[in-house]
Amino acid sequence: MALILDGKRVRDDILNELKPRVSRCFTVGGRAPGLAVVLVGNDPASEIYVRNKVKACEELGFHSVKVAPPDTVSTQDLLGVVGQLNRDPKVDGILVQMPLPKQVDARRILDSISPEKDADGFHPINVGRLVANLPAPRACTPAGVMELLRRSNVSIEGKRAVVIGRSDIVGKPMALLLLHANATVTVCHSKTPDLAAVSREADILVAAIGRPAFVRKDFIKPGAVVVDVGINRVAERNEAMRIFFTDEAKMEEFDRKHSLLVGDVHPLEVGEASAYTPVPGGVGPLTIAMLMANTVALAEARLGL
Ligand code: NAD
Repeated sequence: MALILDGKRVRDDILNELKPRVSRCFTVGGRAPGLAVVLVGNDPASEIYVRNKVKACEELGFHSVKVAPPDTVSTQDLLGVVGQLNRDPKVDGILVQMPLPKQVDARRILDSISPEKDADGFHPINVGRLVANLPAPRACTPAGVMELLRRSNVSIEGKRAVVIGRSDIVGKPMALLLLHANATVTVCHSKTPDLAAVSREADILVAAIGRPAFVRKDFIKPGAVVVDVGINRVAERNEAMRIFFTDEAKMEEFDRKHSLLVGDVHPLEVGEASAYTPVPGGVGPLTIAMLMANTVALAEARLGL
């Protein structure tokens, strides 16, 4: 029976461990850590993410700032918003929620965030520090995966790790973090031939693709640890049926909610793994916890603690 890697439990542990550090920012540093979230327009998924981030800030007693320019905003105006937050002494971390509208040059915006306030770890300076294995804020989702593996006693050193996906926010930083933990890492992507065979070599398989139930039984070596980063909303009944045709409870859930969240790994085909992350409840909860951890670390650095 495969072990379920419980992201909610690890998230709660991480958040609880942050509390005394937040108090210390208050008592010794004189103020709470501050996180500013910039949300452009009204994309419903982004709104939910931002709401959850602001809620997590409030629960930890952060100073939280939300800036919400209209979706007609220009690159120049958004650079102005980020510039103001860069200068705001109460703000330690800045996060610009992606995606940005087409007329905005997203790269320029991300590059304009001060590397000392880069809560997401996307600034090229911090990416460079990740490559060199120097301290810096790390991209939250892959950093969360590392915490989940570490706190679930999954050993990484000497293991074969395969990461499917090479995005800047998940796949690439994930591969580097596993490499720094002494795994032998292979990065796969949409042009990789015979993906299943390469994946089957993995002791630790990370899927960050954005395609529901893409990783099937033949991708998974028996005994492997499977980490599913994907969060895909399946709203077509036929597609849900294709994935869950043997799972009546899930289809009932679909009929009630008219959609289901499905990872990149087929949820009914992980049985031979030694451990796996469920969707929802696996990697997802850790992203916000790591954002909070990054912000506390940035605050401590800025307060000289
Ligand atoms: P992306 O679209 O930027 O990158 C997807 C990657 O998958 C690409 O590198 C591409 O080469 C690869 N890919 C696509 N199709 C493939 C195929 N057929 N075979 C092999 N590789 C293929 O996506 P992303 O931002 O990296 O996100 C990936 C998934 O993770 C999405 O489902 C996203 O919603 C989810 N995600 C979850 C969290 C979280 O908090 N858990 C955070 C970020 C992203």
